[in-house]
Amino acid sequence: MAKIYIRGGYIITMDSRRRIIKDGAIAIDNHEIIDIGKREVLDKDYRYHSDLVIDALNDIVLPGLINTHVHLAQGLLRACADYLPLIPWLRDRVWPLQGNYKPKEALISAQLVIAEMIMSGTTTFLETGLVGRYGPDNIIEFILKSGIRAAIARHVMDQTGYADQQNILHEGLIESGDKSFKDTLRLYNKYHGRGDRVWIWFGPRTPGAVSLKLYHEIAEKARELGTGITMHLAEVREDREYLMKTFNKKPIEFAHSIGLTGSNVVLVHTVWIDDEEIKLLAKTQTSISHNPSSNAKLASGIAPVSRMVLEGVNVTLGTDGGPSNNSYDLIREMKIATLLQSVNTMNPESLRAEDLLEMVTINGAKALMIDRMVGSLEVGKRADIIVVDTHKPHLRPLNNPVSHLVYSSMGSDVKHSIIDGELVMYNREIQTFNLEEVLEKAEKAAYNLYERAGVCTEPDINWVIE
Ligand SMILES: [Zn+2]
Repeated sequence: MAKIYIRGGYIITMDSRRRIIKDGAIAIDNHEIIDIGKREVLDKDYRYHSDLVIDALNDIVLPGLINTHVHLAQGLLRACADYLPLIPWLRDRVWPLQGNYKPKEALISAQLVIAEMIMSGTTTFLETGLVGRYGPDNIIEFILKSGIRAAIARHVMDQTGYADQQNILHEGLIESGDKSFKDTLRLYNKYHGRGDRVWIWFGPRTPGAVSLKLYHEIAEKARELGTGITMHLAEVREDREYLMKTFNKKPIEFAHSIGLTGSNVVLVHTVWIDDEEIKLLAKTQTSISHNPSSNAKLASGIAPVSRMVLEGVNVTLGTDGGPSNNSYDLIREMKIATLLQSVNTMNPESLRAEDLLEMVTINGAKALMIDRMVGSLEVGKRADIIVVDTHKPHLRPLNNPVSHLVYSSMGSDVKHSIIDGELVMYNREIQTFNLEEVLEKAEKAAYNLYERAGVCTEPDINWVIE
């Protein structure tokens, strides 16, 4: 592996003291960070003794970002489901499209999403649920090729409902409990821990699509294997009402009763939960993936994340997918997260920029159980590092790098990305696969999919297109 030396810039370490090193430098060798400190000190040892020297004078250098809620199969679905609330959004648009995927198209969707994530600073992500028809093996092989790091949940299910809506899941997405559970184990045996870059998780579908017996089996097996579980929960009011009516339990109480709380669990959205449930999340060390753009766009609500942070819950950030956010840019997601909490609580300090940077770095690493490996820039940790180019009018004067990252930056400001010591993007060019090819194939694959599903064949615009 090449020895890489990054010199200059504000280095936001995210170490336990949250040090920011002004005019700092980092040396990388054999996957790892081997030195970090002031440029004037490190220059002597590394400036002329490295294979690649990256000048980051006046730029911002920080740990690669961790996106804890991603749908790889929704990359081709952008703008196919605008202006709808969750249940019709799923039933009439998203599921018919996903239920018509051919493996080749699902792979192109994943490639598109991974390219977008790399180019906007994400170095690790949590996929929420692959299914058999997407061809999960091909997707995981591509993840390994791309250089990105990922925990990949595979969907597990044995019913076809969503909350109290029965038989609502598209037929193309239906799998048996036996098949979906066994295929998760197959993927686990084949890929889990491969190169310290891919881990296989359980991704149970939401209540209504999984029996209590299967939920318990998932919880038990995940613990036995030492792997994770992620699930959407309490995204919309209907989820809470269904769980109260059917099980007489609030959403987090329900999750707790089926074994879906604990430090190996990432619950997604949790918009409709109360203070008592927040305390239970903190007590059980359950992580939360907050997805503010998605919750805002589908008019689902605003999750009480500033309260969760106060109570000590490990809150992380996710973008969700192409039709709910329409972007996989985690830097933009930080801004909407803080703005929504400010307006929701009428307190401009309810989430500070520092809180947001913790969510997308060290908290994300904790949620994925890889915080000893990534999430901060420290000697001995894997080199997952991004460089944000500040030589731009919207990032000057450079008087506060933390504020600038959250309030002023966007994903396209990320100039270089290093993952596991490998240069994955250099001067905004992906080094590990051909982006042009992906863009070209995505265009064709999407229109074939829309035609077959009979959805999204015309753009949803009220104006005349000539
Ligand atoms: Zn989602």
